[in-house]
Amino acid sequence: MRAYFDHNATSPLKPAARAAALSAMELGNASSVHTEGRAARAAVDHAREILASFLGADPSMVIFTSGGTEANNLAIRGCAVERLIVSAIEHPSVLETALAQGLVVETLPVDGNGVIDIGCLHALLSDSKLSTLVSVMLANNETGVIQPVHQVARMCRNRRAWVHTDAVQAVGKIQVLLSDLDVDLLTVSAHKFGGPKGAGALVVREGLYFSPQLSGGGQELGRRAGTENVAAIAGFAAALDHLAPEIGALRDELEARLLVSAPQTVIFSRHADRLPNTSCFALPGLSADTALMSFDLDGVAVSTGSACSSGKVARSHVLDAMAIDRGLAGGAIRASLGWSTTRADIDEFIAAWSRIIERINRIAA
Ligand code: PLP
Repeated sequence: MRAYFDHNATSPLKPAARAAALSAMELGNASSVHTEGRAARAAVDHAREILASFLGADPSMVIFTSGGTEANNLAIRGCAVERLIVSAIEHPSVLETALAQGLVVETLPVDGNGVIDIGCLHALLSDSKLSTLVSVMLANNETGVIQPVHQVARMCRNRRAWVHTDAVQAVGKIQVLLSDLDVDLLTVSAHKFGGPKGAGALVVREGLYFSPQLSGGGQELGRRAGTENVAAIAGFAAALDHLAPEIGALRDELEARLLVSAPQTVIFSRHADRLPNTSCFALPGLSADTALMSFDLDGVAVSTGSACSSGKVARSHVLDAMAIDRGLAGGAIRASLGWSTTRADIDEFIAAWSRIIERINRIAA
């Protein structure tokens, strides 16, 4: 039995999501008017209603996509604005897409805890009359730090600025309600909370005009062409659930025990408002690659501070933006818990960690 601590990369498929996806797998094309097509349409519309109600949105606001990356692309590329303001710690699907637009791009810095500089946003909004899209993620994938998105949205009102939030890491881990956040666009991805990979959504406020990025079909009310992935969408809706409160307690226990084994361990953003499932930490002198391999050989799956899509370990732009010492950032390990995490997993994790510490101490002796 392996202990899985990489829910922020992908959370294991929940049984309910698997069952829903399997039973929708053989449905027809949701655009067909015959019985088989209407059954597929009903499954997609049902999923749309569940997602909308989970987020406190109207079903007409939901555009299903192939995941978070596509939804972020759609938000950034689709809004007709003259300027983009993005935080320095956004996922590459926001950062790189913003830079590729050929528009004015301003980057919002973060403090040492990884929280955006709201004063800087105020200054940027006051200094310019350009129509703007502000994109600030709700929770960071590496540190789990929760951003003051509602404050961002309030600041943007009446200033010709739209607000997008990438809520990929937040949905299913903390309550995410559109009415509370008051944003114009919000990104969700199914596989981060136990749904299938390859399904996500962009939720768009009513009345906001933006241009579709995929054309050639009238699906999703003409806002995203392409035959809907009915099975993944059905699994997406079936996975929507809130993380049990015990997960926060297990994460806190894990961190407390990490510090008992090695008091010099640094836990990033420990005192910031964070997701209850994420811990990002480093032990001075221990490289993240070595730690990851040792954990893996011991049956524990973790991630390094920034696991990029190629599988190679890159420097973390998030820890860089937080001005974390380069050497320490190179040792950043991310443990992310989720719906399947148990106390026995925490014990496995700490046993593996203690063996790493013992080895280090033996070498140093
Ligand atoms: N946004 C954030 C914050 C993420 O962590 C990820 C995935 O790691 C994405 C977007 C991309 O989502 P997807 O894997 O569904 O394309």
